[in-house]
Amino acid sequence: KGGVGKSTVTTNLAVAMAEKGYAVGLADADLHGPNIPKLLNAESIRLQSTEEGIVPYETRNGLKVASLGFLIEDPNMHIAWRDAVKYDFIIELLGNINWGKLDYLLFDLPPGTGNEQITIIDFIGDVDGAVIVTTPQDLSLLDARKMISFVRDSNVPIVGVIENMSTLTCPHCNKEIDVFKRGGGKNLAEELVLPYLGRIPLDGEIAIRSDNGEPVVLSSPDSLAAKAFITLAENCHKFLHPEN
Ligand code: ADP
Repeated sequence: KGGVGKSTVTTNLAVAMAEKGYAVGLADADLHGPNIPKLLNAESIRLQSTEEGIVPYETRNGLKVASLGFLIEDPNMHIAWRDAVKYDFIIELLGNINWGKLDYLLFDLPPGTGNEQITIIDFIGDVDGAVIVTTPQDLSLLDARKMISFVRDSNVPIVGVIENMSTLTCPHCNKEIDVFKRGGGKNLAEELVLPYLGRIPLDGEIAIRSDNGEPVVLSSPDSLAAKAFITLAENCHKFLHPEN
């Protein structure tokens, strides 16, 4: 669902994996709201095309990033493309970016189960796994169920469900407040027999740091939120490499 934190989770997950020393690529496949450049404070970056393909933007910790946001001059300009044009763009994004050798390539998807999701799954052919991001609210859980059904139907393994914006810890008295309820993601995972990857707290630090283009994993590494993202990265690695 839109606004549940998919871009925030994908960015912090990618950064956490890069910090662990893996070679990581991050492809922003949200064509209508390509927010990854903003989340990495890289809005002024423009990608260069070479004979070997388009060179992705590389962050200081070696994360390679591609986004439509790096190609549009005016960030306020809307994108209204028909599916055929979106299809072509995604194929360009996937096919012409010179990622080099990667351990992980993460895709930040838009909400829903439409053109972008189908195109990416078809084009890659053997996606290793999907991470389902939901908040504890019923409306988000409802959309997450649809996504799970779609992913299962597409024969893509599900790494697990992550509950975002779960429980606020009051910065004054440390009391836990369930602003958007709690436990919906865990219940969903249990009901649909999926791994539960943990919960990311609702944390003003995430919102402020994200607005400043500073992934919380780097800017507040000791925060509960950063630790939850690092656990998420470890859980994803374990899912994909059960032998390690
Ligand atoms: P989506 O990609 O699902 O549309 P975003 O990642 O863009 O969602 O997040 C929407 C907004 O919520 C952003 O302003 C982001 O900073 C904020 N946000 C995301 N997760 C959290 C969280 N756990 N705590 C506080 N704010 C969050």
